[in-house]
Amino acid sequence: MVLGIFMSVSVCVQAQGNDHVTEPATPEATEFYKPVPKTVVPGSHNSAPSDAIVLFDGSNFDAWESSKDKGKVNWLLNTDGSMTVKDKSGNIQTKRKFGSVQLHIEWRSPKEVRGIGQHRANSGVFLQERYEVQVLDNNDNETYVNGQVGAIYKQHVPLAKASVPSGEWNTYDIIYHAPQFNANGVKTKSATITVLHNNVLIQDHVEIQGTTEYIGWPKNEPHGKAALMLQDHGDNSGVSYRNIWVREFR
Ligand code: MG
Repeated sequence: MVLGIFMSVSVCVQAQGNDHVTEPATPEATEFYKPVPKTVVPGSHNSAPSDAIVLFDGSNFDAWESSKDKGKVNWLLNTDGSMTVKDKSGNIQTKRKFGSVQLHIEWRSPKEVRGIGQHRANSGVFLQERYEVQVLDNNDNETYVNGQVGAIYKQHVPLAKASVPSGEWNTYDIIYHAPQFNANGVKTKSATITVLHNNVLIQDHVEIQGTTEYIGWPKNEPHGKAALMLQDHGDNSGVSYRNIWVREFR
């Protein structure tokens, strides 16, 4: 019975635009019951839902390594459940590699502001080690808009600036679809990304053109699953992170 309903709806969907198919005349004809989405227990106050991979809960760096030498992380582990960039120690990244993900991450710029423009609390969240969502203290601090907080660096200006005051915690909730490459290494589908900054939509399913370069055009070398990377911009950013989790899909 259930399968029959599902099949009939499939036929209807496939036949959309086909004039000779009779329009469904009952509610049941357009309702289906399979496949059933899995049940997930949501977290509270930004805590991880039941099927998330927790990458950082404040207790250790076990899920992380130095991007430079794949060795120990030298960033600062704080007593309040956060970590802070250790200046000039280099980027860090997850040991685990990911494709398409839902990502939750929280970040904070120092309350005592220092530096201007791109040199004020600059860090970044890199999907697959290549594609940066900019982290920056833009409060009373102007810069090029395609490099401001929430930008897909030098590719997509955010739809809004939704930062909290310096020294308070921001959230990024990100939906990321990895790019696809064919057997010859040619990109057949661009990555896409949606970003909510403090629950405000700032990137709406935009297409990532390639690597987010400081100088030059985006590059599209083929790659598979890759790490989530956090940036040490090397100018005493003082940026902190906490409560980082992902859900993999596809
Ligand atoms: Mg950055």
